[in-house]
Amino acid sequence: MNDTQLLRYSRHILLDEVGIEGQARLLAAHILFIGAGGLGSPAAMYLAASGVGRITLVDDDAVDLTNLQRQVMHTTERIGTPKVDSGREALRAINPDVVVTALRERADGQRLQELVQGVSVVLDCSDNFATRHAVNRACVAARVPLVAGAAIRFDGQLSVFDTRRADCPCYACVFPQESGFEDVACSTMGVFAPLVGIVGAVQAAEALKLLLHVGTPLAGRLLLLDGRAMEWTEIKTARNPACPVCAGRPAHA
Ligand SMILES: [Zn+2]
Repeated sequence: MNDTQLLRYSRHILLDEVGIEGQARLLAAHILFIGAGGLGSPAAMYLAASGVGRITLVDDDAVDLTNLQRQVMHTTERIGTPKVDSGREALRAINPDVVVTALRERADGQRLQELVQGVSVVLDCSDNFATRHAVNRACVAARVPLVAGAAIRFDGQLSVFDTRRADCPCYACVFPQESGFEDVACSTMGVFAPLVGIVGAVQAAEALKLLLHVGTPLAGRLLLLDGRAMEWTEIKTARNPACPVCAGRPAHA
């Protein structure tokens, strides 16, 4: 680390849990974002500011006027620009140390398997169940921890699916694909602007904790936020021994 970096990251380096060694670990890390919208914006901005060395943004959408109420990485003048390009510009402006790769595509199946290879952590900031399940399958196969968030209306949801751990469920253990959860889109249901900021910021915190090996990760626990009451509920989650995605994993470490 050079002198500028020591200054830029000094408030992290001062933390016993981070220090120079931890900060160097962040600079060497690579985080993959699926989705560069409401959750992806705050999460990517915090992780870029924190000095995560490589960030890859994947999203096939362009910035729209209706996004700007909550997708704080994008700006009025970048309406019409691909979200990944707008995001790259925002992250570079925050921290030139970060190498940002912008992929304007809707990644699924085989492509996701390729994208998660060699990545430190994946952040699922997408808005539909098909993508969430595809991201989960790729993360289980590559044994990459997944930090998943969701937000709609005043309701938020968060968990970490770290399938490197034998005791930790995957996304499909908790939300079976055949359970018939229906997609509810922000475009039809609405979403309270700061809710995506709260959930996205917690996703960033969990990603940093995983990279730094700090504290207790949100693995095996599902956090539900009722934004109206500002009340968090924690539900313990367990592996499904018959999970079609991860039942083949060893049951014990
Ligand atoms: Zn599973």
